[in-house]
Amino acid sequence: MAIRVHQLAKKLGMSSKEMLEVLSRLNVPVKGHMSSLDDETAEIVTHELATEQNKKKEVEVKEKEAVLKDLEVEFPVTVKNFALKLGIKSSDLIQKLIKKNIFASINHNLDDVTINAIAAEYGYKVHRPPTAEEVLFQDHHQVVDKTKLVPRPPVVTLMGHVDHGKTSLLDYIRKTKVTEKEAGGITQHIGAYEVMINKKAVTFLDTPGHEAFTAMRARGANAADIIVLVVAADDGVMPQTKEAVDHAKAAGVPIVVAINKCDLPSISVDKVKKQLCGMQLISEDMGGKTVTAKVSAKTGDGVDNLLEMLLLEAELLELKADPTLPASGVVIEGKLSPGQGPTATILVKNGTLRIGDIVLTDSCYGKVKAMINDRGHRVKEAPPSMPVEILGLSGVPYAGETFFTVKDDKKAKELFSSRQDKVREDNLKKTKRITLEDIYARLKDGIVKELKIILKGDVKGSVEAIEQSLGELPAKEIKVNIIHSDVGNINDADAILAMASDAVIIGFNVKIEPKAKETIEKEGIDARIYSIIYEIVADVTAAMEGMLEPISKEVFLGRAIVRQVFVVSKVGKIAGCTIQKGTIARSAIIKVKRSKEVVYEGKISSLKRFKDDVREVAEGFECGIGVDGFNTLREGDVIEAFGIEKVARRLEKA
Ligand code: GDP
Ligand code: MG
Repeated sequence: MAIRVHQLAKKLGMSSKEMLEVLSRLNVPVKGHMSSLDDETAEIVTHELATEQNKKKEVEVKEKEAVLKDLEVEFPVTVKNFALKLGIKSSDLIQKLIKKNIFASINHNLDDVTINAIAAEYGYKVHRPPTAEEVLFQDHHQVVDKTKLVPRPPVVTLMGHVDHGKTSLLDYIRKTKVTEKEAGGITQHIGAYEVMINKKAVTFLDTPGHEAFTAMRARGANAADIIVLVVAADDGVMPQTKEAVDHAKAAGVPIVVAINKCDLPSISVDKVKKQLCGMQLISEDMGGKTVTAKVSAKTGDGVDNLLEMLLLEAELLELKADPTLPASGVVIEGKLSPGQGPTATILVKNGTLRIGDIVLTDSCYGKVKAMINDRGHRVKEAPPSMPVEILGLSGVPYAGETFFTVKDDKKAKELFSSRQDKVREDNLKKTKRITLEDIYARLKDGIVKELKIILKGDVKGSVEAIEQSLGELPAKEIKVNIIHSDVGNINDADAILAMASDAVIIGFNVKIEPKAKETIEKEGIDARIYSIIYEIVADVTAAMEGMLEPISKEVFLGRAIVRQVFVVSKVGKIAGCTIQKGTIARSAIIKVKRSKEVVYEGKISSLKRFKDDVREVAEGFECGIGVDGFNTLREGDVIEAFGIEKVARRLEKA
């Protein structure tokens, strides 16, 4: 099919004369506007014209851009500040945004696409200055100097279901005993150890296996070069085995499988291998590529083979780092050590960390005062892949935070304090959530009843792990609301917060400070200390059920014998007593017994030692007890005091 010149001109929106000009420029021989062009020529002409037009447009845009003035905008930027930058009214900018279907108030942050588009309309081109962090991090962004790269030890993380033998296996490898020191037999923190295998250093990270530790496991996977998936031969693949595989896959880390407990009788390694196939971990003897080693952490059988496999796998990865660079890496764990202040176990991923270096993590800042290696020895420097505990940080960093060292102390401090401000702001926002209106609205609706919790733990990892498992509890009728969580002992501020907000305090491996103890006792705050995470979960579950249907139980506190009865005007009868057993507390429930028969049940109206009001009187002492609304007290009556304990009904596990 041919097309005439005038037809093509019409099709492309130009006059015949213009088309003839184009054709002569493109050296297409034609006689006039009635000449025919074959399809191929017509297509070439169309294409050429489009290209020409595009080029023209590009030039136009460039010319336009050349006249755009530079506008420096620091991100994030609010509508208000951006309007200020542009020199226009906020209301005008809001109008403009509405036309673009963006409904923002003056305090809204704008994204960079919107900002670029609007800036261009006002004749500006936006420049984003490097953030303070980027400036500080410049040293680390040096062009990689390949000649300086040297091999570094692999970081191997042991993962798997709880009790499958991760700690034991690492223990065997380290020839030490870590398992016995752990509360409840669970690895509560990520342990980081450097081990020499065939004169080659390998860094091992142990991760806890209990389901409460998902967050910590994710970190273990991220810090690793290789993951050793520990599967007990008797148990096989379990929920956390699968989860560990998910983490490893998400982090893109190769997996080596260790089938453990092969010393046990009547186990089937083949069955485990088949289960592993279900997760695309097909062992080499089954035609797959996954290195799978049979081991026993108990007898040590197969462990050497596993280690050899690990070294081979590591070799394939050709792990390298530049030890001449300033250090950067990840925080494995942060904690508050008595006498030492905040400490953090960190893993250097690149560069070398030295004493005196200024370290900046996501939430902390400090000069490295001392470094302690995994054997408890002080070291002066930590090269790539080396885990060390560092002292000198301003606070306790979260596990998983990244860190880097900076040269400019002053700038680092500035950045740190601006970050602190932000954290403080965020915290303020958090506490604002619990307002009176809030509570009122919730109560009025009657839909949400919540269990408020103040959580204190010894390390950030455990605090996070507890938060997470509590967050996962079913929340149909009532929900768990952790209104405050932090690392450190339970202090008076926690007690006051609990009082003010009707919360219970849960402590994990911490103590209650004396002042807080006073407040807690005085105000009757529920504060509990645990050393095993799943007991917290079990108790909170029970408490949640208890809120739905509390069962009260009396607990015997003490017994007093009435020696004498006084009549005090306006007050009534006061019984002069001797405490025969236990204690009598002012707040206790009492039963008055006469010849073993309960003649009164109620409360104490006054409790005195001589003339002083007291909270409690202990065994062997004398006191005066006034009994609310019971005026027939007699000499020889027995007053028994009880506390009320709320016993929660526990639900069966689903
Ligand atoms: P983790 O939770 O994975 O760290 O497991 P542990 O290392 O704490 O081990 C859990 C239990 O399994 C402990 O009682 C160990 O003694 C036991 N265990 C670990 N490895 C082996 C093994 O190879 N053989 C046998 N028989 N028991 C083992
Ligand atoms: Mg363990």
